[in-house]
Amino acid sequence: MKWKIRYVYLEEQFKKQRPYLANISQVVKRGDFTLGKKLQEFEEKCAALLRVKHTIGVATGTDALYLTLKALDIKAGDEVITAPNTFVATAAAIALTGARPVFVDVRDDYTIDPNLIERAIGSRTKGIIPVHLTGNSADLYPIQEIAKRHKLFVLEDSAQAFLTLYDNKPVGSFGIAGAFSFHPLKLLHVWGDGGMIATNDSALAKQLRLWRNHGLKTRNEVDFFAHNSRLHTIQAAVALVLLPGIANIIEKRRQNARLYKKYLRQLEPQVHIPENICAAPSRSIYANFVIQVQHRAELIAYLISRGIEVVVQYPIPLHMQKAAHYLGYKKGDFPVCEKQADTILTLPNHQHLKTNDIRYVAESIIEFYTRFNK
Ligand SMILES: *Cc1c(COP(=O)(O)O)cnc(C)c1O
Repeated sequence: MKWKIRYVYLEEQFKKQRPYLANISQVVKRGDFTLGKKLQEFEEKCAALLRVKHTIGVATGTDALYLTLKALDIKAGDEVITAPNTFVATAAAIALTGARPVFVDVRDDYTIDPNLIERAIGSRTKGIIPVHLTGNSADLYPIQEIAKRHKLFVLEDSAQAFLTLYDNKPVGSFGIAGAFSFHPLKLLHVWGDGGMIATNDSALAKQLRLWRNHGLKTRNEVDFFAHNSRLHTIQAAVALVLLPGIANIIEKRRQNARLYKKYLRQLEPQVHIPENICAAPSRSIYANFVIQVQHRAELIAYLISRGIEVVVQYPIPLHMQKAAHYLGYKKGDFPVCEKQADTILTLPNHQHLKTNDIRYVAESIIEFYTRFNK
């Protein structure tokens, strides 16, 4: 297949190497590969950008979630609420602590529906993990209000939402903590795996620094057994080079999204693009640009024939996965999520696309429905 428009341009994304190698070289010269100077610098810069007191670099976004749950003492017998349409890592992080993931259906904008949370709360419920999926902010104020009333923590899965704004504040700074990922497919990414926890809670930050580093409170003493999950100093050096350009990348993605909306609005309801429905104004970073379409299989085939690569994120909701069988959910439990799983489509929306590329994708979609309707 000769693609005209790829879903991601990894070659473009990683073409520029020199400034990265120069920064890595400084780490190699110093030899401070673990918990080194560049990691500290990256943590401080992220804390300022995310407007939180503390950030803790960890090995992956999954560990950012998992270690925070461990530090909050989540364990077997506990329940943690999240959305069934998220990436598998959110539910896995809960399950790996021994706790039970409890799913709550989502809204049109792919985030957990605050109106449905309360009926999922029971005596074992300890917290809520709203997911800022696709870069759209979950509706944090109503979620926090429910959490407060029931004495639950809110841990924001912000893996797809570095610098998404809710009420003009970066997400990840609202709950007890926010978890971020620097996987190569996230907007702010490293050359491999990386993650980070953001928090304003100094006691939690202190615990998390132990949880990522064997629990070592001094060179030779531990009070509890923990993990080795540090963000490599080399990866922090990579992220530091990308960081100053992140605002431009986000702006480009927002521009792309605006263009797509302009072209595709006329196709409603065959093509549906969710509107912002949060209680406070929010601004997506469009980590993924996800539309909801009729006749999806036929549309995908048509787009492929025009050299356009599209993906479905994610076709199987978590409650329908074999891994979740033991939780006892069945088809029909989360109708909005299930309908979306059958209709969502992620369009190419990266910063290397030209205005013409966006137009080509949009016009191809319009053409498909014009033909299909005849
Ligand atoms: C990517 C992602 C994660 C996991 O991050 P990793 O760095 O890949 O471990 C968790 N949650 C969501 C919503 C994600 O998109």
